[in-house]
Amino acid sequence: MAIVKKTEVEVMAQLSGEQLERHLLTLPAKKEQFDKLFDFIEDELYEIECDHTSRFAMKFLMQRGMNFPKVSAWLSQQGGYCDCKILEEIAEPWREIFGDE
Ligand SMILES: [Zn+2]
Repeated sequence: MAIVKKTEVEVMAQLSGEQLERHLLTLPAKKEQFDKLFDFIEDELYEIECDHTSRFAMKFLMQRGMNFPKVSAWLSQQGGYCDCKILEEIAEPWREIFGDE
């Protein structure tokens, strides 16, 4: 089996308090924006199946005027190649780190 490099979200899971706060500042969007992005994708995929593109993520980023190239590059680096993968690979561990308010 290939050696799997840890994703940034996995690294973040091992941080806490001030370290985690500081790490959040290096991300391409605010924590709240990611929270909303994941909620948005989840709502959309509740009704429609993922077509294995990031169309809902893209829609959200465009609507919010977020830094599209940076955020989408970051999402792919975490294994979020399409909307369902973003939920699976990023939103799940993310919510474990921050809790699901
Ligand atoms: Zn998918």
